[in-house]
Amino acid sequence: METVVSLAQQTFQLGLFRSDYFADSAANFGIKQVEFNTIASSFGGIATNISQYNSYPVVYTVLDWPADDWEIGTQSLVSSTEKLPTNGALQGICEALAEAWTIYADLRAVVMIVVENVTYNICDQRFHEFEIRELHPEIRVIRKTLTEIGEQGKLGPMKELIMVLWVKPACGVEPAARDKAPTTCRRWSGTGPNSASLLSSSVTHTQADNPLRAPRGPSGQRPAQWGELGVGIHTQNIQREKRRGRGSSDWGTSDERALVPSRTIHWHWQPSSARTSYLRPRGVDEPPGLALSVITTRSRCKDDVVSVVYYRSGYEPGQYPSQLEWEARLLVERSRAIKSPSIQYHLAGTKKVQQALARPGAVEKFLTELHQVEVVREIFTGLYSLDFDKFGEEAIQLALANPDKFVLKPQREGGGNNVYGEKVREELLAMKDSKERTAWILMDRISPPIQTCYIVRPGQDGLPPLSDLVSELGIFGVILGDKDNIFVNKQVGHMLRTKLSSADEGGVAAGSGALDSPYLIDAVVTC
Ligand code: ADP
Ligand code: MG
Repeated sequence: METVVSLAQQTFQLGLFRSDYFADSAANFGIKQVEFNTIASSFGGIATNISQYNSYPVVYTVLDWPADDWEIGTQSLVSSTEKLPTNGALQGICEALAEAWTIYADLRAVVMIVVENVTYNICDQRFHEFEIRELHPEIRVIRKTLTEIGEQGKLGPMKELIMVLWVKPACGVEPAARDKAPTTCRRWSGTGPNSASLLSSSVTHTQADNPLRAPRGPSGQRPAQWGELGVGIHTQNIQREKRRGRGSSDWGTSDERALVPSRTIHWHWQPSSARTSYLRPRGVDEPPGLALSVITTRSRCKDDVVSVVYYRSGYEPGQYPSQLEWEARLLVERSRAIKSPSIQYHLAGTKKVQQALARPGAVEKFLTELHQVEVVREIFTGLYSLDFDKFGEEAIQLALANPDKFVLKPQREGGGNNVYGEKVREELLAMKDSKERTAWILMDRISPPIQTCYIVRPGQDGLPPLSDLVSELGIFGVILGDKDNIFVNKQVGHMLRTKLSSADEGGVAAGSGALDSPYLIDAVVTC
């Protein structure tokens, strides 16, 4: 961490946070913080849509029904849309990303979402991409995995994070050799008669004249000659084919932007090699006896400077399957891009920091107003370190005596890592004499109030069962600033997850919980 922080080129930090709460039956239904998410805080996209979806039956449908048949609420309930709070999570998160993009002050730079190699939560993530496009069409958003960043990323002279548009082994350039090899490319084969016109209008170089080295063909040979095209004949052909819906799927990717004429180099090959080597886009005729491959070169294609990096991956070890992904993370951290989260914010979201903040005197270091300190402390439930000291020993004894009253948490994210119930005792007994225990924290188990309700699931036969459920409220907040100034710091929306009261964790992605909407009622009525 020290290395990264001292090398970091960017002082601005963007936080897209979600703080999760349960109402606590043991504290007169006051809210207690479950945890604070600083990286990949999910469901801003879907929750915003769920709010609208859930408001429909309550606000509209009921009005059309005869009073005797009302199944949802009462008339006063119906008339009050305030009771269904509007949800600005998606817009708020995307405006904060756009604000960071503005601060970076490079109109051509892109916002990059870092995604998993297999993205399970893509429905939520893509809402952000669409929303940014809607709100700020001038901002381009790209998605890259850590693996792709490892392969395509580099730092510019001013420590800009640059994603290089080049292509992997297909053109004979191995990732490791990419810095030495001038040709990094996407390629496709030629277009018959168009190839002929293309070649006749091109300027032909000998290999020695051309500063760019041609890639090897499939059997290892280099082309005898190649042409550099000054006008975009081939590009136009591609566009035309694409409009007809005949383009290869590769053409729809952002790499297509590399195909502007001045950045397009064309090689032609001897027939036998070309015919066997290249992908032939659907609907494009292979020219008899001659095929054309088009190579975008790294030196000429447009690189993407990344102004804002939005991590939706990178929070758990499995997302770094090799050294390449760790190097990718380090590259991003060393760059001038504004990160969400910054490495400091990422660390601030750990359970250990949550526990340390709950220590007496810790909140006071950050807030000076007494009443603010009190209000913040009020939302903490008991949090205990497992250090080798008096407090750690006391916490262990408490939990061994009453394991059901505690949750044991490691420094992990993403759900499914905590320990509950009798297993708390087993784990503590196993680790209590080893250093490992200090990597965990203990937390009071919160008992949220139970409501009897339905969870609607896909593929369910008949009516869903009436079940005992509990709800967890997540509040989204955004913050943007540097060490001297905070430019944005506000609450933007919410997310409600409802799960069976018997389930330890409420994972929506894991299938045990469901997204829900809060319906506000007067506190006096509930007590
Ligand atoms: P992660 O960061 O992996 O999501 P959390 O600390 O948020 O881990 O815990 C995951 C889930 O476990 C929560 O959403 C909640 O349902 C349950 N949980 C966590 N802490 C507590 C607690 N102190 N009391 C009751 N349930 C908890
Ligand atoms: Mg979390």
